[in-house]
This record gives sequence, C-alpha cells and structure tokens, in this order.
Amino acid sequence: MALRTIVTWPADVLAAEAAPVTTFDEAFATLAEDMFETMYANVGIGLAAPQVGESLRLVVVDMTAGTETQGSEKLVLANPKIVAKKGDIIWEEACLSLPGISGKVKRALNVTVEAQNVKGEPFTVEAEGQFAVVLQHEFDHLDGVVFIQRVSPLQRKFLVREYKKKASESKDEREDSE
Ligand code: ZN
Repeated sequence: MALRTIVTWPADVLAAEAAPVTTFDEAFATLAEDMFETMYANVGIGLAAPQVGESLRLVVVDMTAGTETQGSEKLVLANPKIVAKKGDIIWEEACLSLPGISGKVKRALNVTVEAQNVKGEPFTVEAEGQFAVVLQHEFDHLDGVVFIQRVSPLQRKFLVREYKKKASESKDEREDSE
C-alpha cells in the first residue's frame, strides 16, 4: 500500500469522463486500498480515482473516517450508477482537490446506487443525508464535475477567487520555508 498524491483543481484528469472499471485484479484492489490510505491521511470521507490521477470509475467512501471506528464502514464502489433519488438536501461541501474552500450544494436527500465491489460483484446501497451527499459528490468526479460547478455563477466566482488566493498563499509559505 502507498499514499497517492491528490490532484488539485484545475487539472485535466478532474475534468475528464472516467473510464469504466473492467479488470478486478490485484492491481485494482491495491489502488482501492491506496485510495483509502490517502483519504484517511487527508481527513476525507470519500475519494474518487481521478483525484489520485487515475481516470477510472472508482470511488471509495468511509463514513467513519476520522472517528474512533475509522475503517469499519469501508465501501468500494466501482462503476456506480444512481438508479433512484428522492428529496432535496443542501449541504456545505468541501473537496480534497479544492483545498481551503467550501460551498452549499443542493443534492438529492436519498439515493439508491448500484455498483460493483472490489471483486467485481454487483451490490446495491441506499444512502440518506450526508452519506447520499458524499456519494453524489464523488460520482460527479467520475463525470469530470467538481462541486463548484454545482453552485450559482456568482457563488462560483467568489469560491474560485477564494481558492486562488489560498493556493497562492500556501505557495508563498512553501517558498518561504525553502
Ligand atoms: Zn471532491
């Protein structure tokens, strides 16, 4: 297992439509485990393969990440598809690929998802509330969509400005420490 580097916005891989997973071999299982490790190290609860530079329809989620029971709800979703959704929820979202900013996004409150596990076996999962939000956010990454594309144009302008400011500040800090 190894930590992977998180790709930050803007990057081509974050804007691309990811390819379906067709091979469920050892290398694929290793990628999924690497993604969990990378997600935990960066204090996230969901991560999509394009965020580690792999343009594949793979998402990992652990709603217990960052808690005492971290690792107890690990979920690998390959080729996920939302087959039903219901209701609305507005959630303040953040993204490991857009560090330093967050914004309110409207999502479905309940989703039913069909996916394949790390062995390629199909399963169905029903999610509500924050769990449903995380799944929808991560699945967006597989279609080249980041959360700032889900807010109003005005809000997006503000968030992009914030993001660029924070990115240049952290660059200055890095240069100072060199
Ligand atoms: Zn994200």
